[in-house]
Amino acid sequence: MAQSPKTNKREQAPNQRATRTRKTANARGYNHEWRRARLLWLQACPVCVECGWIDVPAKMVVDHILPHRGSRLLFWNRSNWQTMCKRCHNKKTGRGE
Ligand SMILES: [Zn+2]
Repeated sequence: MAQSPKTNKREQAPNQRATRTRKTANARGYNHEWRRARLLWLQACPVCVECGWIDVPAKMVVDHILPHRGSRLLFWNRSNWQTMCKRCHNKKTGRGE
């Protein structure tokens, strides 16, 4: 379990935390347009590139191969997208990539 200490700290104000998380995600480009695009992507490419796991879109992640860091170009460039299961994606983000 790789829980960051930050997460525990914010448990004092759960409502505030939820709003904040959603706002941040939207600010980074994860809006309804993204959700639709990722769903189409995962329906077409449901296989995890790391371990070959196949699951429903809700359990899979569209990963940016190169971290987009706010770049719309990298964010929307589908040659920068790959399908990962949540497990492999957590491993990748846990490595700080
Ligand atoms: Zn996987």
